Amino acid sequence: MKRRTLLKTLGALSVAPAVLPAAAAAATAPRSAKPVLRLAHITDVHLKGELNAPEKFVRCLEHIHQQSPKVDLVLNGGDTVFDMNKEQLPTIEAEWKLWHSIIEAHCHIPMKHCLGNHDIWWYEEGTKGDPAYGKQYSLKQLKMEAPWYTFNQAGWQFIVLDSVHLDIDNTWYIGKLGDAQYTWLEQQLAQLPATTPVCILSHIPLLTATLMIEDNIVNRWEFTGGDMHTDIAKLTKLFVQHPNVKLCLSGHIHIRDKVVYNNVTYICDGAVSGAWWNGNRRETPPGYGLIDLYADGTFDEQYVPYLER
Ligand SMILES: [Zn+2]
Repeated sequence: MKRRTLLKTLGALSVAPAVLPAAAAAATAPRSAKPVLRLAHITDVHLKGELNAPEKFVRCLEHIHQQSPKVDLVLNGGDTVFDMNKEQLPTIEAEWKLWHSIIEAHCHIPMKHCLGNHDIWWYEEGTKGDPAYGKQYSLKQLKMEAPWYTFNQAGWQFIVLDSVHLDIDNTWYIGKLGDAQYTWLEQQLAQLPATTPVCILSHIPLLTATLMIEDNIVNRWEFTGGDMHTDIAKLTKLFVQHPNVKLCLSGHIHIRDKVVYNNVTYICDGAVSGAWWNGNRRETPPGYGLIDLYADGTFDEQYVPYLER
């Protein structure tokens, strides 16, 4: 129903604005005039020296820098280089070198990082003693002190999560926080003023509908614990206690969607690399999220396909 029609209907029913449902009241409340922060959310760059990936990534960064009003902060949602799970160290080193040279030359906006599953080297035999093993190598490359952290900018609290953990049988990863990180998240939210809006960044989606878009479904959908956060029920319960959690950004699926659940918006923001530098992934072109945050906890957002003219 269009807003004007809704107001007309409400008028006809003689419903005073004071008894409007909360959501409708919020929609009619005056919003702070200007955004306090403009974000570009890049995810799943999967940088490598082939498939014109470097040139396209440079175009993406230039596109972000050309935005008006200008972008204040870039959030990198992880899977920064192509695939640290499967490649040998010389390839990994070359990809990180490429990342640093492109960022140095083409990115003049501050960037905050989150680890993705492909930023972790744990799948090769005989690498456990290597300094590159596990999450250490990428943490060092991205100058991250810890795989999860929080910061405040322009009145918004950002919470960066580490989604990727080994499964119970230690052979592959699943999306979850684990006990220590969950307790930390609980504490962070508990000590924040209820008026501070929160934006959460993770690599693996906390919640997404993208996984239901599958071919050849007969009578059930199948996806794995690595596709979405397996602790989502615990998280949605926690967020209900903290209505200042407004926005959860993720990547990983390379498909763009937006799910609203209990007034929290969960955006899976496609991928800078599209289908790993081979065009679109289903209907989602290579792109990035552009998000304007307002002081009152609201936001405007869009997905920007940077290769389309
Ligand atoms: Zn990815």
